[in-house]
Amino acid sequence: MAQILDGKELSKKVKENVKIEVDKLKEKGINPKLAVIMVGNNSASAVYVKNKSNSCRNAGIDFEEFLLPEETTEDELINLIEKLNKDNLVHGILLQSPVPKHINIDRAFATISPEKDVDGFNAINVGNLTIGRDCFVSCTPWGVMRMLEEYNIDLEGKTAVVIGRSNIVGKPMLQCLLSKNATVTICHSKTKNLEEVVNKADIVIAAIGKPNFVTGKMIKEGAVVIDVGINRLEDGKLCGDVNYKEAFEKASYITPVPGGVGPMTVAMLLENVVKAAKGL
Ligand code: NAD
Repeated sequence: MAQILDGKELSKKVKENVKIEVDKLKEKGINPKLAVIMVGNNSASAVYVKNKSNSCRNAGIDFEEFLLPEETTEDELINLIEKLNKDNLVHGILLQSPVPKHINIDRAFATISPEKDVDGFNAINVGNLTIGRDCFVSCTPWGVMRMLEEYNIDLEGKTAVVIGRSNIVGKPMLQCLLSKNATVTICHSKTKNLEEVVNKADIVIAAIGKPNFVTGKMIKEGAVVIDVGINRLEDGKLCGDVNYKEAFEKASYITPVPGGVGPMTVAMLLENVVKAAKGL
């Protein structure tokens, strides 16, 4: 039976610390501020943005939303990002994905000043993460690292398997684990013998987007299981990428969905805004 890694509780602790840091900055005359840009109507994005806005306000972080219409051109979006880059009152800039198809999101991410890139998606931050320099790290993998640290889960020499190779979760997760001296394997949709690979892992991180993909059978006895996936089932319930019931019986530690990695992602965003306000 596994011990639960409680992201909800830990995120509260992180947010309380953020608030203390924000108050200190305000005493020095710095008001940390996050600008969030959303292009077009996407109900899931709107929920995420609302969640970020509430969390910022609770922590005392100024929050400004830029809701751009679907027909916004790429150049208009780039112009707005450039304007925010120059605005000294804005410390963090976040572009909510997805954006409409006619916009090249990579160009937009590349335009965000690396010092204000609190999502850690700009190639400069990605590169700095790869060579081990201080930088903004994508909030989800960074939140996973914070959880592992909080529960004193040592990574040195451990075998870790990340399932999923996205730019926002899988790849930065690999770099984070590597920086703590784990031996890391990435699995993806073309991986052969995935079950066999996962079965050897001391740490399993699932970031796939497929409900109950990781079964109990795939998990080594005593492994640490981190479920990044957020999937909405037909009955409206949320579930992760891991079959929680089965994995719970085999793992030493496990994250629930909801209440695991999800809350940590927002908490780390707030931490990154404070970091940006202090000056990276
Ligand atoms: P993505 O769609 O960009 O990437 C999914 C990855 O899964 C791909 O790299 C793909 O190769 C891999 N994959 C797909 N099918 C596979 C298979 N059969 N075998 C092995 N690998 C397979 O997704 P993402 O943005 O990385 O998100 C992954 C999941 O994490 C989603 O459920 C998403 O909602 C969730 N997510 C959660 C948070 C959070 O805060 N908890 C943040 C970001 C994403």
